[in-house]
Parts: sequence; structure tokens; C-alpha cells
Amino acid sequence: MAWFSRDKASLQQGEGEKRVRTEGLWLKCRQCGQIVWRKALEDNHQVCPKCGHHERLDARARLTLLFDDGKFEEFDQSLVSTDPLKFVDSKKYQDRLAASQEATHLRDAIISAGGNLNGRRVHICAMELKFVGGSMGTVVGEVITRAIERSLAQNVPLIIISASGGARMQEGAVSLMQMAKISGALMRLDEARIPYISVLTDPTTGGVTASFAMLGDLNIAEPGAQIGFAGPRVIEQTIRQKLPAGFQTSEFLLQHGFLDAVVKRAELKDYIAKALDFFLVAASIPAS
Ligand SMILES: [Zn+2]
Repeated sequence: MAWFSRDKASLQQGEGEKRVRTEGLWLKCRQCGQIVWRKALEDNHQVCPKCGHHERLDARARLTLLFDDGKFEEFDQSLVSTDPLKFVDSKKYQDRLAASQEATHLRDAIISAGGNLNGRRVHICAMELKFVGGSMGTVVGEVITRAIERSLAQNVPLIIISASGGARMQEGAVSLMQMAKISGALMRLDEARIPYISVLTDPTTGGVTASFAMLGDLNIAEPGAQIGFAGPRVIEQTIRQKLPAGFQTSEFLLQHGFLDAVVKRAELKDYIAKALDFFLVAASIPAS
């Protein structure tokens, strides 16, 4: 009887150790429901190796993926929101900002960076969805505008990677003004014939879709990303019609002419490099 108890205890202890060791090593894919090794998912840049589902990727990981050797310099890191409306909803806006800053180690929902992409100097802005839903307030607007002006001054192509719930409601009309400010700056980039590539990732909605995300010389998206202006529920309630299946996915938008391409994450860097080669050769030929 004593032997049995001891065996049982060690077995329990063994199972406990096993549980502790394997905890967090495996993840369930949101798309196919299969169990995937966390390391395999990381090595594959958060794309499910079983079904190809593109899981969300944070801003820093995106920049590391696109820049040569994962190396880049960061700009305008000191800009912070002043909470112009002293806004309070279920929480103080200041508290939301503080929580997001702590969680992401960023000052706001974007990283603006410069470096090389397949040997060519580029500027890339990557939005961070985990920071107040990747929303665009004054800081995001100003960081993007400065990146555009930097591209203009240095004649360097610009890439913006969107992941956003839209304009930041806690900054009211001031956040909406960013749409016009960024769009105006992009027009100057266009006039200077400097390429701008917009990459839309899951999700890109609201005022971001309604401004710079759809103003690229090329607008490309990752597979399966949700892209739209208003949410499907609001649209259904407004038009009182059932929406078609797959509405607001990258593939649906490509089919209906809203996007130029849907590109897999693994192919994104080479695709952008090729597109820039094409644009810059085209730009060197004088317009007749
Ligand atoms: Zn999967």
C-alpha cells in the first residue's frame, strides 16, 4: 500500500512538472483550430504553418521583418498626446494612454523608422494595434506627417503598415483633422513622384481606411485581413440588407477593385522591393 501511494505521488508530481514545462508552448490556431507549436508560429512570423492563417503581428516585429538584418533607426519617439479634451468615458483617456504605454513600451500607436529594404533606403511607419486599438490621434497623425516630410526632403520611398480601429474618439475632431493633414502631405509626396506603398493588415478600419491607407501608389493587404470603414453590423442596420459572405476581407476587396494585391507575409518584403524598382524606373522616365 505504501509503495502504491509513493508511486501515485511521484506520478502526480511528474504530471505537474510536465504541465508546467509545456504551458504556453502550444497555441490553438484561430482559423483551423489545430494545435501549433509556439516556436513554429514565431519562426513563421505568426502565420499558421498548418493553414496559412495570418495572425496579428506587432509593430516592432513588422519592422524587423521588413528591414535588412532587422536593423532600423526610430524617429519622433518623444511625441505624446496632451489629452486636449480631458476626455473621460468608462476610464480616463490619460489612464488608457498610461496602460497602453506600459503594455507596449511605446509612447503612441506607431513606430516611424528608417533603414534599408533589400539594399534600398526606405522609411516605414508601422501602426501598433495593441495601443488604444491602433487608433489615430494627434501623435499618430503628426508622426506620419513628419515621416512623409522626411521622405520628401530626402527623396526616400515611404511605406505605411496600417493596423487600426480608425480615428481616436478620445481626441474627437482633433483626431479627424489628422486625416486631412496626412492626405495633404501625401499629395505633396505624389507631386514629387516619390513612391508611397500602403500595406493594410488585420484590421484596418474607420478613418485610417478613409485616408492614408487607401491613398498608396499601391494599396496591398495581407490575406484574410478585415478592411472597411464602418463595421458590418452598423452597415446592415443602416441599409437593412444582409451583407455578402466574406464582406470586408482583403480577398473580397481585391475582387471588387479596392486593392491592388493581396500578398502573403512571407513574400511581402520582396514584393515591396520589386514594386519600388518598378516605380523608380517609371519615375526616372520624364512624363511626356
Ligand atoms: Zn491554422
